[in-house]
Amino acid sequence: MVQKVLNQLPNKHKALLSGFAVFVLILLLIPSDPAKASKNSQILEVGKRYDVPLTIATASQLSEEFFEDSPQWQNFAVKKGDNLAKIFARAGLTPQETYYVSTAGKDAKQLLKMRPGQQLQLLIDNEGKLSSLAYALSATDTLKIDKQAAKTYTSSISSKQIDKRYNYAQGEIKSNFWNAAVNANLSQNHIMSLAGIFGWDIDFALELREGDTFNVVFEEHFIDGEFVENGKIIAAEFVNQGETFTAILHDDGNYYTPEGRSMRKSFLRAPVNFKYISSSFKKRRFHPVQKRWKAHRGVDYAANTGTPVIAAGDGRVIRATYDKYNGHHVFIQHGEKYVTKYLHFSKRAVKKGQSVKQGQVIGYVGATGLAAGPHLHYEFLVDGVHRNPRTVTLPQAKPIAKKEAAAFAKLAQRRMTQLNNTKRIMLAMNR
Ligand SMILES: [Zn+2]
Repeated sequence: MVQKVLNQLPNKHKALLSGFAVFVLILLLIPSDPAKASKNSQILEVGKRYDVPLTIATASQLSEEFFEDSPQWQNFAVKKGDNLAKIFARAGLTPQETYYVSTAGKDAKQLLKMRPGQQLQLLIDNEGKLSSLAYALSATDTLKIDKQAAKTYTSSISSKQIDKRYNYAQGEIKSNFWNAAVNANLSQNHIMSLAGIFGWDIDFALELREGDTFNVVFEEHFIDGEFVENGKIIAAEFVNQGETFTAILHDDGNYYTPEGRSMRKSFLRAPVNFKYISSSFKKRRFHPVQKRWKAHRGVDYAANTGTPVIAAGDGRVIRATYDKYNGHHVFIQHGEKYVTKYLHFSKRAVKKGQSVKQGQVIGYVGATGLAAGPHLHYEFLVDGVHRNPRTVTLPQAKPIAKKEAAAFAKLAQRRMTQLNNTKRIMLAMNR
């Protein structure tokens, strides 16, 4: 029975209890010697040595922490300008030990990349020599360096398992997307990812409206049952002005529609990131964008001077110059059919003849040329004809690779179920 209880206890407790049991035994065995008994009653004082023969067995059963001279892990914060030698010097270790440790195998090279704010744990023995070092490389990985013999250390990296769990967020836009997303408890990274995922379909800067909704399922990473970080958005739905867009993350790291068409397209809907567009749509509501577009064949994005402007698609710069009407401006040719134009820059970031990638910064918002205030004037031409970049029909996105299609179809079905389940949960909660 006692054995059974003992076996269920943690090792330290076991050691403690068996230690006690032995002392009780000693007390029982030598009741005729009160002096010795009283001496034995002080046995729990840390670090004392006892001459009773039985205590040899006892000492080996007691946990190490019962002796005040047993080595303890010590924590050293990496400071600005720190390196291993400086930290070792603070810990009272020698330059020789620094050398042996820093050359203890290829994993030890990680010690060269220490950054301020990180922690180094050192286990120093009773002679003041290093016996182990632990350095957390990330939430999951720890570099361990252990002394094997004098002058000989080995290094290894131990990794903890990440448990992935799903969480979800839902919201309805009332004033602007950012506020709605923050209210839905989405992190800043997830808000930017969400706008990125739908950036080829929706102009987050100008086209969002009150009543638009979003529904997001994302990963959360746990280690040993504790939350460590957000993972990727694995599925999302965005309803913009009554039109529903759905994106699902595939194993290849790309997002696809449930039917397996890439979310990535040849043109972004907006050549500026929505976070720089200050005015909320409520103020714009009485100035229909369509009418404005017809009046001057372009779309205006009001933003602060210096706001980065990006290429809407891959292409080649066919014009990058200054004149008194357009100010600093850049034209990009995309394939045979398409040209995009960007006017009134404060500064150009590309040169004529240069190849540019979609999303690459090509200039900065300004008010050069005929401009009342800082804004980007953006034009989209198809076969030389001005078209509204937000309503023009664009080339269809590529479908997922044939050999991936079956696996993706299964995944998509699972993700759609998750999206629909979160909707039901939120509906039930709001009731
Ligand atoms: Zn304009």
